Amino acid sequence: MEVPMNKNPTILIVGAGIGGLSFYHSVRKNLDKKFNVKIFDRETSPEDRWQGYNIYINRRGITSLFYCTPAEVQARLPEAIPNPIPKENHSIAIVDHVGRCLLYFPQQEFKSIYEIEPLKHDFAGMVSYRNRLRDVLLEGVDIKWGKKCVGYEECDNGIWVLFEDRTREFGDLLIGADGINSPIRKQKVPDLEILDLGVTSIDVDIAIPKNLADRMMSIYANSLMQKSLGRNGDSFLSMMRYIPIDQSDEPIYRVTLSYSYPTNLDIKDNILIDDNDPETVINHAISRIKQLRPPCELTDLMLELLSLVPFSHPGKKFPFRTYHPPRRRQLRDINPLSVPPWKNDRIILLGDAAHAMNPLLGLGVNNAIQDADLLTKELLNYENDDLIACIQRYNEKMRVRSSKDVMRSRNTVLRQRSPLGNFGLVIRYSIFRVATLIYYAIIFIKSRINF
Ligand SMILES: Cc1cc2nc3c(=O)[nH]c(=O)nc-3n(C[C@H](O)[C@H](O)[C@H](O)COP(=O)(O)OP(=O)(O)OC[C@H]3O[C@@H](n4cnc5c(N)ncnc54)[C@H](O)[C@@H]3O)c2cc1C
Repeated sequence: MEVPMNKNPTILIVGAGIGGLSFYHSVRKNLDKKFNVKIFDRETSPEDRWQGYNIYINRRGITSLFYCTPAEVQARLPEAIPNPIPKENHSIAIVDHVGRCLLYFPQQEFKSIYEIEPLKHDFAGMVSYRNRLRDVLLEGVDIKWGKKCVGYEECDNGIWVLFEDRTREFGDLLIGADGINSPIRKQKVPDLEILDLGVTSIDVDIAIPKNLADRMMSIYANSLMQKSLGRNGDSFLSMMRYIPIDQSDEPIYRVTLSYSYPTNLDIKDNILIDDNDPETVINHAISRIKQLRPPCELTDLMLELLSLVPFSHPGKKFPFRTYHPPRRRQLRDINPLSVPPWKNDRIILLGDAAHAMNPLLGLGVNNAIQDADLLTKELLNYENDDLIACIQRYNEKMRVRSSKDVMRSRNTVLRQRSPLGNFGLVIRYSIFRVATLIYYAIIFIKSRINF
């Protein structure tokens, strides 16, 4: 097979999500003299698919984002991660099924993302707009759109990545940053399987008026990350910014909602839902809430929020750009330590492709960006023939770090999935009380050492 020769090795990145784009910038910024880089995505344009929801970026993710991105991208980060405004608290508040506080996890206050990066502790982060973050990361990136990867072929001195349109591209390293269903992972580590956690989730973005935003802020003590744990294995997660997204008549705010419940309820009830019909899906979520939650102010609020879900594409207006119809989907994950270490070779997995995790603790994007940071730092050591040693170090560290977060997220879901009787509720309250004491003790100690 004829192989084009490059002076510097060429890195091929498949997948222009947050992970792939962070790594692309990082190669250009930090490895420019050592490597060439190309990036491909199956989408046909940046607006092809829903890039959706609000996400939480923690201090580690932010630090890695700064390491990976050049000054012109960093200058635009506040478009995606706006500075906090008065009343906003980037903390998490967990309440029970009737709105009683179970846990309030405080975060340090700050004026902008730039103040988080130099911190030495992890009690700071920000709720950001994932779609805007992707837009910002697209700055200056020459993506080859419409390139759906279907596999790869290795040869003695490089690798061919194969696309559905029957084209192929040659490079020295292939980065599989192609998400949870990665064809690159399936070929490289076929035993590394996706685990279904037995929990169904319905995720939507909605726009809410000020009176509803105020009610939410008041129930959750101004925390922007909000969770209500039901006693029947269900939970209601919301994530918002208290910054209006449209000022035209009345201010409106974007909120991401995620309602989840044990999948076996749908199996047991023999529920037949048309997941291609958004209205049916939301009506189902509403009837589950009515079935699983007691009548109270919090339940009414949840029902009111779900009644605002759009059922069709209302044009390009924010926040519904690339509108995504609500569907039921299963919470799933991939634990990279569930299989023996895979071969350290030219094919490298990054982000959800290696370690998808359920969104309950908001750690997926953060791990993907940390992968980009770590892989860059390992490749900085590359001199002539020790490429495989660099990749081995990346694989070892990435697997250990991300597996910890996969398992933390998985255990959280599995713990919440079980229904609780009165005794179970008492145990839950006690656990959260102890957790609160431990968190505050840790924060007190760290603040004396690090703040
Ligand atoms: C409702 C919800 C809330 C979340 N909240 C948070 C949060 O608060 N904090 C957090 O850290 N994480 C959160 N996550 C998780 C986070 O979104 C993912 O972990 C993150 O997007 C992973 O980034 P990635 O770049 O690895 O993969 P992806 O974002 O999945 O990107 C993969 C890219 O690869 C492309 N691709 C896929 N297949 C192919 C192919 N065959 N050929 C070519 N290209 C391909 C896709 O088009 C896509 O652009 C949340 C997830 C969900 C669903």
